[in-house]
Amino acid sequence: MKYFLSKLFIILFCSIFIAIGAGFTLSSLASRHHDGLFGIPFGLFFIGIGSVIMVTRLRQISKFEKMTYQWYKSTYPGNVQGNRVTCYECGNNRINVRALLNRTFHREHVCTQCGKALYYSPE
Ligand SMILES: [Zn+2]
Repeated sequence: MKYFLSKLFIILFCSIFIAIGAGFTLSSLASRHHDGLFGIPFGLFFIGIGSVIMVTRLRQISKFEKMTYQWYKSTYPGNVQGNRVTCYECGNNRINVRALLNRTFHREHVCTQCGKALYYSPE
């Protein structure tokens, strides 16, 4: 539910950006003045930024939603024994927890040896 709302928020927020960009681009295309053409790259820039933010944030949220500790435990049962978690890639048992910035409110559990992100947990 929490993830659904974050996704909805990202979609709405980025749609506003894309709509502003589309508005600029379309009104510049419709304009008969030459200076109006400057609005086209400006509008495309907004559309681009909005789309990139939307795609990267949605991918990130899907990752948090899917790659939980429970998911790791059921996907790699051999790598979770009690409280001991090992890396599924190299078998290393030193896992670093790192807080992700950018208001994601999630921590990433990373293998200290191969740098693989194993799973995510909410802060
Ligand atoms: Zn590893």
